[in-house]
Amino acid sequence: MKCTISQDITAGVDLIRAGELVAFATETVYGLGANALDSEAVARIFEVKQRPHFDPLIVHISNVNQLDQLTLGLSKQAEKLAEQFWPGPLTLVVPKTEVVPDLVTSGLGSVAIRIPAHPIARQLLEATKLPIAAPSANKFGCLSPTLAQHVEEQLGNEIKLILDGGPCSVGVESTVIQCIDEIPVLLRPGGISLEEIEACIGRVRIAKIEDHAEVKSPESPGMLPKHYAPRARLVIADKLDQLPAKGVNGLLSLYPLEETFLKGSQFSAQEILSPAGDLRVAAAKLFTALRNLDSAGVENIVALRMPEKGLGRTINNRLDRAAES
Ligand code: AMP
Ligand code: MG
Repeated sequence: MKCTISQDITAGVDLIRAGELVAFATETVYGLGANALDSEAVARIFEVKQRPHFDPLIVHISNVNQLDQLTLGLSKQAEKLAEQFWPGPLTLVVPKTEVVPDLVTSGLGSVAIRIPAHPIARQLLEATKLPIAAPSANKFGCLSPTLAQHVEEQLGNEIKLILDGGPCSVGVESTVIQCIDEIPVLLRPGGISLEEIEACIGRVRIAKIEDHAEVKSPESPGMLPKHYAPRARLVIADKLDQLPAKGVNGLLSLYPLEETFLKGSQFSAQEILSPAGDLRVAAAKLFTALRNLDSAGVENIVALRMPEKGLGRTINNRLDRAAES
């Protein structure tokens, strides 16, 4: 199949309406989209991604008016979050209507919904007038794509169109919050920080990665411990004195490290996420940096843990899951 990379929204609309897949830019990562109301089209997403069917998809919409069709209503907290963070990198898990196919939600009684901010995603959603189910446009478990070229590398033979919107500005997936019970649950840290969420609605419960293992988690079945993995083995160092002394390693850190720390260690490649220590900038660079280290051919990637605040939490979550064996 010949894959086109373009900004031709009309071509994207035609494909989505015909029940085909389209990869498209969002501010988080590139998505692999299909008409969320068409089970056959949605089934193709799982097939192309090789994604297990127990991992439910996020449904993207352009407008809160579409909520009535898809959800049984939003709780007070969900409404507050939607008002403050939509359009943007926030996904709300809320009770669903029968219109949403079981395949999209892995048979759960809830659906994950997001209104993205990226103009390409918005134009596609507005022009199709359809809800679009879209996970990240990569093979299951691999690094998420933050450039059209990343999508082409992995899925270029299986899809017809990638709607190019340049590099993703947020660069990590959306924050997923379940708003069903009285106390909302943070299912996945993402582009909106926990601090921002709690400033909006007060305390939330944080689901632990261990809770997410397939068998244990009716709450969020798709959140497997191992995910977002580069090809190289990833090892996390909590402190500088834990840097390994030998090996063909790549180093991933927030700041540039001083020579004294690097002395005696052998790193053939190094990626610095933000010399100024800005965790938002670091998150936006994370997946590209991991790809670069893979391309450099290192066997191991040593990642220095980020400060556990703001988007540092999101980065640490992705690193922890990339490091799982
Ligand atoms: P992705 O599409 O890869 O960004 O992942 C979306 C994630 O959101 C899934 O892996 C699920 O863990 C979570 N999710 C989606 N829908 C639901 C739902 N109805 N209930 C709980 N978690 C969900
Ligand atoms: Mg994904």
